[in-house]
Amino acid sequence: MPLITPRKSATNYDVIVVGSGAGGGMAAYVLTQQGLRVLMLEAGRNYEPQSETPMFQSNADAPLRGVATPDKPFGFFDSTVGGGWTVPGEPYVINREGSAKWEEASDWKAKETNQNFMWWRPRMLGGRTNHWGRISLRMGPYDFKPKTRDGLGLDWPMDYKDMEPWYDKTEALVGVYGDNHGLENTPDSLNGTLQPPPKARAHELLIRKHAQRIGIPVIPSHMAILTKPLNGRAACFYATPCGRGCSIGANFQSTTVLLPPAVATGKLDIMTDAMVREVIVGKDGKATGVLYIDKQTGKEERATARVVILAASGCESARILLNSKSALFPNGAANGSGKVGRYLMDTVGSNLGAHIPAMENTPAYNADGTSSMHVYSPWWLYKEQLAGKLGFARGYHIEIGGGPKMPEMGVSGAKGDSYGKKFKEEVRRHFGASVGFAGRGEMIPNDDCYCEIDPEKKDKWGIPVLRFYWKWSDHEKKQAVHMQQTFAEIIEAMGGKAKPETDPEKAIMAGGTIIHEVGTTCLGDDPKKSVLNQWCQSWEIPNLFVTDGGPFVSNADKNPTLSIMALCMRSCTYLADEMRKGNIG
Ligand SMILES: Cc1cc2nc3c(=O)[nH]c(=O)nc-3n(C[C@H](O)[C@H](O)[C@H](O)COP(=O)(O)OP(=O)(O)OC[C@H]3O[C@@H](n4cnc5c(N)ncnc54)[C@H](O)[C@@H]3O)c2cc1C
Ligand code: SF4
Repeated sequence: MPLITPRKSATNYDVIVVGSGAGGGMAAYVLTQQGLRVLMLEAGRNYEPQSETPMFQSNADAPLRGVATPDKPFGFFDSTVGGGWTVPGEPYVINREGSAKWEEASDWKAKETNQNFMWWRPRMLGGRTNHWGRISLRMGPYDFKPKTRDGLGLDWPMDYKDMEPWYDKTEALVGVYGDNHGLENTPDSLNGTLQPPPKARAHELLIRKHAQRIGIPVIPSHMAILTKPLNGRAACFYATPCGRGCSIGANFQSTTVLLPPAVATGKLDIMTDAMVREVIVGKDGKATGVLYIDKQTGKEERATARVVILAASGCESARILLNSKSALFPNGAANGSGKVGRYLMDTVGSNLGAHIPAMENTPAYNADGTSSMHVYSPWWLYKEQLAGKLGFARGYHIEIGGGPKMPEMGVSGAKGDSYGKKFKEEVRRHFGASVGFAGRGEMIPNDDCYCEIDPEKKDKWGIPVLRFYWKWSDHEKKQAVHMQQTFAEIIEAMGGKAKPETDPEKAIMAGGTIIHEVGTTCLGDDPKKSVLNQWCQSWEIPNLFVTDGGPFVSNADKNPTLSIMALCMRSCTYLADEMRKGNIG
């Protein structure tokens, strides 16, 4: 990607966009298509999927056969070239439940208890869109008005009908496979928008057969992967896993789908290694630009524009706002409500896998497909839940895995005490004979989950860091136990043996581990209770916007990225209109 340096930056940008992931990439795409001049500041390094993606290597080509290591927690070939669970020189701080002691977080510390928060941070052009799972589910009508439905949490200031056209446009641009089923709170897409879903594979057919018998729907999943060419991008040819990125642009990455057309307009300048510290606010109360550290030189630099958009990811945008203190805004920019950092949410996660004897010794068959699931189960117990029969609020969907995969270090089930011919027989018997279920559920925002600036700790650039407070409520913990019971039922229906976790504290995964952190700069219709209006625009600083996961006021079970992009597209289209009319900037 062509880049600029601080010396080459202009002084007449219309908009500064901070971050280049789902929210930043979409903002740059929409605004440059509307003829606006944009400067993108990205804290990580440049990244070129076309040349850097290992598309044809097998795990045998990698050290330790590609298994996860502390530097590469998603395996050797994962596309993360900068960032992770810990970022050198950029700490954050957590507090264990019941202890007054604050400590620098590291992944092993957070995993000790589910009452801490783990924060995955990318540092590369395109952010997490390079290696995300590509699961792209629309939020439904209930998801925008959860408080109206069951009295808990918060409602969004808009409803599904307001968002529907933006989902249509986002899906058409991104390319999502799947189909329409008319199911409750699982919206259909505009006819002709979705790409044809790939056929279910053997393990998926078997799961579907048994799950449906016990009343659980299994339908084609919605994934941001092309099964037909689109806008010059090729269709998936079932090469290596999407987490490595895709050199042919068949899956969605900001770096292959959003940034190239934005750059092609001639209106986008991208600067990498630019770590934004704060938003500069003038005496008139308007944003004039940002201060950032040029990581190549270590110097603090200044960029100016008519409008500033933060899309540095939920918590990082809150950090920038909280660090933007001035005489006019002593508690940080856009924080008159005191809500910046509040209502931090992740997705509820619980997993269970099992060996299925009926799948043993399967003759070799073609299990090709996208590296992601071809089918999934949307939440199916809306009525029972509303009637109070489940004992917890809000649902989950099931992400399905299993079957034969590219072998890694070990082969599941192969016994350690066998060798030679017997070992080979064991491996053949067990290869591809396991299934896995991942429950991904809604979290309700609560007063115990938030982030704020740590009064002492700073990162290596001298920027104050975040500290996190985290506590799941009983709703989420009971939901995680329900997930375990459901998975066990399916596994047993398939003839496998399941060991579901019944202890709620153990059934639920630590906060942040699903890497769907949203909230902290919430939308609303009351400036006293929210940070942003429905257009992701600060109530107090009208030329300041946030377009990452921060604006979310609830975190439905639907994975957030499609909604981040649809919301961003809606907000940036509004912004461009208002700038044209002379109302903003
Ligand atoms: C392994 C994995 C699997 C996932 N699977 C799915 C999935 O299947 N479906 C789904 O919906 N979501 C999934 N997600 C989550 C998804 O990746 C995020 O929701 C999405 O990328 C968030 O977009 P964003 O623009 O807010 O942030 P990001 O994509 O994180 O981009 C933020 C960018 O801002 C930059 N930045 C941060 N701080 C600064 C600063 N101070 N100055 C300048 N730049 C800065 C970062 O370097 C980064 O490039 C997954 C995430 C991971 C890690
Ligand atoms: S599975 Fe398909 S879309 Fe994903 S990286 Fe491989 S070829 Fe690309």
